[in-house]
Amino acid sequence: MTLQYSLMDYEHWLDEVKAALDSVNMPMIDWQGVWPFDFQAEYDSGTKPHDAAMRANRYWWREQNKSLKQDCRESKDCWLPRGHRGVCQPVAENIARR
Ligand SMILES: [Zn+2]
Repeated sequence: MTLQYSLMDYEHWLDEVKAALDSVNMPMIDWQGVWPFDFQAEYDSGTKPHDAAMRANRYWWREQNKSLKQDCRESKDCWLPRGHRGVCQPVAENIARR
């Protein structure tokens, strides 16, 4: 992929995000209406489509856990369910920004 993401228009960028979310069975159309994720902000800050998709995925998991009162209480921004094994994983962890 030689395309510069900074030159990619938002519609094209969002299509790639949608494809990445479909590939992990988290269709944007299903989740965005329930817990809106700020994709525009990710685009504006130069996040790659795949990274934005993974962050949205984690965000939706965290919101779902919260709604079920199954959110992790060990740290504030952890997307894993309460009582998970291993270390906490913040929603925004390990996503490189340019
Ligand atoms: Zn945790």
